[in-house]
Amino acid sequence: MKKRVEGPVLVVGGAGYIGSHTVRLLQRNEVETVVLDNLSTGHRCAVETPFEEVDLADRAGLARVFQEYRPRAVVHFAAKCYVGESVENPAKYYRENVSYTWNLLEEMRAAGCNDIVFSSTCATYGDPVEIPMPDTHPQDPISPYGRTKLHMEHMMEDYGRAYGMRSAALRYFNAAGASKDGDLGEDHEPETHLIPLVLQVAQGKREEILVFGDDDDTPDGTCIRDYIHVDDLADAHLRALAHLQAGTDRIACNLGTGSGYSVLEVIEHARAVTRHAIPARIVDRRPGDPPRLVSGGTRALAELGWKARSSELREILTDAWRFHERHASGFEDA
Ligand code: UDP
Repeated sequence: MKKRVEGPVLVVGGAGYIGSHTVRLLQRNEVETVVLDNLSTGHRCAVETPFEEVDLADRAGLARVFQEYRPRAVVHFAAKCYVGESVENPAKYYRENVSYTWNLLEEMRAAGCNDIVFSSTCATYGDPVEIPMPDTHPQDPISPYGRTKLHMEHMMEDYGRAYGMRSAALRYFNAAGASKDGDLGEDHEPETHLIPLVLQVAQGKREEILVFGDDDDTPDGTCIRDYIHVDDLADAHLRALAHLQAGTDRIACNLGTGSGYSVLEVIEHARAVTRHAIPARIVDRRPGDPPRLVSGGTRALAELGWKARSSELREILTDAWRFHERHASGFEDA
């Protein structure tokens, strides 16, 4: 059974894809919630709680929010998350992921706010040395993005040892899907993720989906990923908050299903769900894409009582398709 979460909870990056689903789940569990977001990639209309448009660079703005709302805990989603961009512009990633997280931790410390749950990633592991990948897999990231996320994990561990901060590092595999009512979903600009791109082809917004390589060491030669429903991710954040508030100092765990699907399997399932042809063309591989990333973690179940419940690929695609049909031009921000 889930334990209650004591609010207020400050959700940093709560106007974004995973953040907005988590905010909604917190509200459904009657947890007082406030969102802080700079709207660089998030959507104001995805938020129905008290909202503060503040950038994490703005220490005074952060301090004011902590003073005004006195949050008991923080959930931190605000980060840059494109591997390719991080290779071209690592400065942006060290500034926004590492130094802005430091700002946040310092303001938490000043306000006596001790608990933080944050988005980590399987990219902190680097190339798999074991498949499926356990929670204890060696962390040797191969991109600046993965390295900045590992720095964030280390910062929180060190703040835990020195200042008693309690943290949960949730290492997502491939976030996908949308809310069941079609209100919330994935709307990035530019879009780089497989499932929304495939659905845009189904909608006729793109002519074809480019498949990045078909000569990997996998059954059909295309890359295998572990797709996890965004509602399942949101559920894990709620459980992690309760776990910290129950007195746990630190948890770091994978959030995945343990099953992988190839790019061609995703496209095939999307054709069945959307009943559109979805033309696909094989092109060169994307540098740095490991052939298989599948979670073998057991900690989330053992420590949080969490497991994926809505993450069958067909369910993920059905929910994502509903969002895409409802929001033909993405979120309609004014
Ligand atoms: N992919 C693809 N075509 C695209 C986008 C992605 O073939 O237009 C592949 C990519 O190589 C990877 C998988 O789809 O194997 C999932 O990619 P995504 O960018 O969604 O997530 P990632 O695993 O890179 O975080």
